[in-house]
Amino acid sequence: MRRTLLPDLVLDAHGAQGGVGATFENGRIVEVGPAKEGERLPGMALAPGFINDHSHAFQRGLRGAVERIEPSHPGDDFWTWRERMYALAEVLTPGSVREVSRCCYEEMLSAGYTSVTEFHYVHHRPDGTPYGDSNVLAKAVARAAEDTGIRLLLLPVAYARGGLPRFRDPSVQSFLQRVDDLRGWAEGRLLVEVGVAAHSVRAVPRGWLEEIGRYAHRHDLPLHIHADEQPREIEECQAEHGLRPIELLAQTGFLGPSTSIVHATHANGKELDLLSERGTSVCACPTTEGNLGDGFLPTEEILERDLRLSVGSDSHVRIDPFEELREIETNARRLSGRRNVLVAEGETTPTPYLLRAGWGRTGLKSGDPADLTEIDLSHPALADVEARDLPSALVFGSGSGVIAGTWVEGRKVYERGGASG
Ligand SMILES: [Zn+2]
Repeated sequence: MRRTLLPDLVLDAHGAQGGVGATFENGRIVEVGPAKEGERLPGMALAPGFINDHSHAFQRGLRGAVERIEPSHPGDDFWTWRERMYALAEVLTPGSVREVSRCCYEEMLSAGYTSVTEFHYVHHRPDGTPYGDSNVLAKAVARAAEDTGIRLLLLPVAYARGGLPRFRDPSVQSFLQRVDDLRGWAEGRLLVEVGVAAHSVRAVPRGWLEEIGRYAHRHDLPLHIHADEQPREIEECQAEHGLRPIELLAQTGFLGPSTSIVHATHANGKELDLLSERGTSVCACPTTEGNLGDGFLPTEEILERDLRLSVGSDSHVRIDPFEELREIETNARRLSGRRNVLVAEGETTPTPYLLRAGWGRTGLKSGDPADLTEIDLSHPALADVEARDLPSALVFGSGSGVIAGTWVEGRKVYERGGASG
């Protein structure tokens, strides 16, 4: 079915234009340009949907519950937070995974995310034995995405040591067999794509990294891993391998243009150079990194090297793409003592750089999936904002409350205050 939407404005990373319609057919945008005929969206701007490139949906269950010191852990930090997260992961069931994931993905759609990358590492029964269907929990996540209508990149995550028994597979071969099975199952599912991931250099040994990297490159799959989130992880990696995490990933063939490093909070210049050489991207999770006390992303160094950047809401302490983007620039300002820091070459404001990180594109264009957001121009946060300032007003002065509707694959999947349809 062919539809044309006629909002008041169509927004891209650089500004906004009136008198423009967006036409889509079979889930794809086929035209963006001057249009008079179509479905009017009065008071709305249309923009690309945000990509949430790093999620652990079940951690949505910790919201508000971990913001206090437990008497048993007076010096609360990432590692004590992790104990609380493990306690939650311990009791998940296929039913509860689907339920918490659905709740999390509904919130994402309401915030303007149209796509989510789920870094899924709870695989087996609590004692570590596989379920009858060893991908049952991954499928519960996929079904939750389908329940809500969000686009999903599902990453089964390899875990060899540490963590809980239910995270771990006995061998890299058995892990990759499960990935094969899941890829077969997901074939033909419109909104679900399967990639692969390794949890971290602390949870996965060198031999696994080599195998998983080879597998991903052979099948041309997106490949993710947490790295350099915490100083202790770097020290442990140096003690075991004599290398920093990203150096180890380079040496094991893990890095490539389809690889994404999640966090890179404490990556040094040499590690960032390695990412640049291999065309590897970085996924920043600023609200979570701030909440966990991880540190500041080296954003200026990332921009200097022109590394591809994406954002993720990770632990879901907050689900708001505008806030993730704002934090990236705000952190850079705090670190540098300057304003308008992350300004890409040829530009005068950080806004386009940040929106490209959030959208994975610059604006709506023909050939892209019809994954869109409707922005309420009458929202108090946007009152008296000139059309040309709208992108910056969104990044610097708005929250997810300005999102009035969300479309995925040309279908409206969220409408504020009403039934979607
Ligand atoms: Zn994570």
